[in-house]
Amino acid sequence: MGNFEFKKKFGQNFLSDENLLETIVQKAGVTKGDTVVEIGAGKGALTAVLSKYAKKVYAFEIDRELVEFLTEKFDGTNVQLVFEDVMKFDDKRLNDMIGEKFKLVANLPYYVTSPIITRFLQNDNLESLTVMVQEEVADRIIAKPKTKDYGVLTIMCGLFGEAQKVLRVGREKFYPIPKVDSAVVRIDKKQDLEKEKFLGVIELAKKAFSMRRKKLSANLENEKFSKQQLEDIFRKNGFFESVRAEEISIDEFIALFELLKK
Ligand code: SAM
Repeated sequence: MGNFEFKKKFGQNFLSDENLLETIVQKAGVTKGDTVVEIGAGKGALTAVLSKYAKKVYAFEIDRELVEFLTEKFDGTNVQLVFEDVMKFDDKRLNDMIGEKFKLVANLPYYVTSPIITRFLQNDNLESLTVMVQEEVADRIIAKPKTKDYGVLTIMCGLFGEAQKVLRVGREKFYPIPKVDSAVVRIDKKQDLEKEKFLGVIELAKKAFSMRRKKLSANLENEKFSKQQLEDIFRKNGFFESVRAEEISIDEFIALFELLKK
């Protein structure tokens, strides 16, 4: 493993600080009853700590160069290694393999952060997600309305549960050292999450933000509602006619979804 070549294309920035790794697993609230999915085992630093606290760990890794090292390291443990591209491993296969609810805990490869979060939030078996992301992404996840960071990712995460930035991690903690700092975000699934509503509001938010600077009525106009009809609905329900997507809170997006569904 001495001559391992870090691959930028796989977003390989590894952690090794034991205290930091312990803190991440604590912040994720992993206990002996939990099954955990980790994306990107790398050299297995986080995997090893997860293995200590969890019942079972499924660790994905795309880089074939790590097969021998990881297989040897986790032989005979509660870690099941999956040497595949997680984005090509669909939810049916994942849920069949695991067979129960799970927590996602990972130091995510930065090039695929949003697609991974988007995809896992829609998995019915996901209980919570605790992920290391670039700080700029963490800020988008926890953003408030009327800020430039507020958008579809914020709404998607906020619908799933209350998103919290639980830890800031300076770039010097990684090897190789990346250009930006990172943060750990945790989101626990809401007890009363309704799947159909969740997916419907996400679709609405995507349309609402399709042209950020335009009025909401222009972005939502379709064969069912003209711009004028939408503006009438907005006015009657306490929104300004000229409201823009970034001015609408997550609860208001839910209300709007219900109104437009009728
Ligand atoms: N968990 C390790 C740590 O904290 O030191 C490594 C984290 S590193 C930021 C991300 C890891 O994800 C890398 O090992 C990379 O090879 C792996 N990876 C990147 N894309 C992946 C994908 N599509 N599927 C599975 N693993 C992936």
